[in-house]
Amino acid sequence: MTDVEITDVQATQVDADWTWTFVRIYTDDGATGTGECYWGPGVADIVRDSKEWLVGEDPRDVGPLVHRLYEIHSATGSLAGATVSAISGIDIALHDLTGKLEDQPAYRLLGGKYRDEARIYVDCHAGAHLGGAFEGAKQEEHDRDIYSPESYADAAEMVVEEGHDAIKFDLDASKRYEKDRHNRHLNAEAIDYKSSVVQAVTERVGHDADVAFDCHWNYAGDSARRLAAAVEEYDVWWLEDVVPPENLQVQREVTRATDTTICAGENVFRSHGARDMIEQQGVDVFQPDMPKFGGMAETVKAAQMASDYYIPLALHNVSSPLGTVAGAHVGAASPNFLALEWHGRDDPDWETFVEEDSVIEDGAVPLSDDPGLGVTLDLDAVEEHMKPGETLLDPAP
Ligand code: MG
Repeated sequence: MTDVEITDVQATQVDADWTWTFVRIYTDDGATGTGECYWGPGVADIVRDSKEWLVGEDPRDVGPLVHRLYEIHSATGSLAGATVSAISGIDIALHDLTGKLEDQPAYRLLGGKYRDEARIYVDCHAGAHLGGAFEGAKQEEHDRDIYSPESYADAAEMVVEEGHDAIKFDLDASKRYEKDRHNRHLNAEAIDYKSSVVQAVTERVGHDADVAFDCHWNYAGDSARRLAAAVEEYDVWWLEDVVPPENLQVQREVTRATDTTICAGENVFRSHGARDMIEQQGVDVFQPDMPKFGGMAETVKAAQMASDYYIPLALHNVSSPLGTVAGAHVGAASPNFLALEWHGRDDPDWETFVEEDSVIEDGAVPLSDDPGLGVTLDLDAVEEHMKPGETLLDPAP
């Protein structure tokens, strides 16, 4: 192929199921690539500011271009945080673009696919969402205790009946029995309550679905160990983010102390940031968020490192359909991939953000041979949800 140069880099933010930042990279031969960043203050500006280092470059040099952005921002946030999210979206756009230029699907640029589809797990939040999310739920279901074990179990059954075999609930959604959340302590009543939620859900769905439970970094080390021990007798897929994210030693102690599968990783950035967690086996399941972790190649790199320790990869994900499909390519290209989160079940507009009819079929994202990501951002949906002050991306020529 003849020379091709980047001519422009644009970004725009929308408010939808989550705040999404879309990135589009343009070239002199007309090809474009589109990516998506995890939310964060200033992310769209960081993407736009990166234009000066990308224009004139060959977009197919994905690794060197991304590496250069890390170097440029080394003193201004390229270790962790919003800058890494911005670079992640650029990385995804470059993979989409290079795939189109080379007529290859993105997973092939990442080393090839281990599987033809990426399994989805559905974020079900809590029984609380029976109202808004579970359309058609009876009024009595709205009115009763939304955080009761029964309510969680009903929600689980409903989602499984929709054809999903992997789901996740927030085990920290109700603060009942927690006297003071700041000390992170769970008393015996709180642990009994949370165990009863786990019991109700896992027994209701049986082997029809794998069920994970998220604790959002809320509990002290001893409380986390006691909670993990209390749910060992149930079929828990994984218990997620049970202690705060800053202290790997505590995370590792909790993981070592229990037979319950412990998952974390959503708050680490880049393979450097994940290395200690993986090498010290601080988790049983490693769960980075690809559009904030460093992008597609960086996530596959960390997944390979986790694979060396026989640690499965789950992908945390709150993306639009475009970012979700990018995650599916990463899952396809990672040997140890377990499942990719779907956060959009509650949002009737979620699927409108790509031109394709559906990206999730039978509980998975099927991967095509189409070049790049194989999906097209719908600019009408973007325009409809654009945040005030943002400018719409130019259409692909
Ligand atoms: Mg989480």
